[in-house]
Amino acid sequence: MMEGVRRAVAKFLKGGGVYEKAVDAFLRDLQRELIKADVNVKLVLSVTRSIRERALKEEPPPGVTRRDWMIKIVYEELVKLFGGEQEPQVEPPKTPWVILLVGVQGSGKTTTAGKLAYYYVRRGYKVGLVSSDTHRPGAYEQLKRLAEEAGAMFYGEKEGDPADIARRGLEELLQRGAEVVIVDTAGRHGHGEEAKLLEEMRAIASKVRPDEVALVIDASIGQKAMSLAERFHKSTPIGSIIITKMDGTARGGGALTAAAVTGARIKFIGTGETLSELEPFAPRRFVARILG
Ligand code: GDP
Repeated sequence: MMEGVRRAVAKFLKGGGVYEKAVDAFLRDLQRELIKADVNVKLVLSVTRSIRERALKEEPPPGVTRRDWMIKIVYEELVKLFGGEQEPQVEPPKTPWVILLVGVQGSGKTTTAGKLAYYYVRRGYKVGLVSSDTHRPGAYEQLKRLAEEAGAMFYGEKEGDPADIARRGLEELLQRGAEVVIVDTAGRHGHGEEAKLLEEMRAIASKVRPDEVALVIDASIGQKAMSLAERFHKSTPIGSIIITKMDGTARGGGALTAAAVTGARIKFIGTGETLSELEPFAPRRFVARILG
């Protein structure tokens, strides 16, 4: 994603000519790349405006060229756009730590539950996975298999009240010594209505009392991520966001920036179908990679 930015940076740093003109040429390239990555046009304009203002006003400190300083400004403004300076907090602040995963069908929620289990198992935690999805046939087996692969404990029931199942699962796994418990939920309600799905999430959240509600979003929905996050947030306050399938789209910038403006932190990104393909999302590292 945004591979052209690196070229634009190189061109800007090597190029001669009038500084102000070079800045504008660079910003045009940057705008094009951000829009190609599906970042909202208003956000694109506002970030490039901020960069331009600072680039023309700020004096670089001694020993730093104006052009190098300009790229530092670009870096800082892009980091803000993608969620800010703060590193994601992936280490559970206490144990047991209960994560409730929510999101629509097909977003990659069950796969992500397995990936999170694998992630925390590798960091030395005893992990338990709970399947409370009684709507999708196969959800139970899928999560059970993922739990085995990840080296995590598993609890599930194929039928019954999802909120009760989730609570029973949590109780049992805690008794078995789980330090991190991840509860997978349905992504589609029997009647196909989002309102009912959100109602179910609320019911599960009130019985499980999770430490963290994580919303799973498919990167390919782009800017629609914002309204999706807002709708879920209204029924169960979202603590963190996980964007999946970043490997499958060049337009992941839409979901990353749209979700960031909801105020919830993007904590992880999924970059493939296998268990190990999940990484903490640090805006600073992400932007550094884009700038090259
Ligand atoms: P759910 O309905 O939300 O539980 O979705 P699933 O976990 O069953 O995933 C739906 C599809 O997306 C599956 O084919 C997964 O392998 C795939 N998937 C999930 N996460 C990723 C990812 O980060 N990258 C890629 N390429 N595929 C993913």
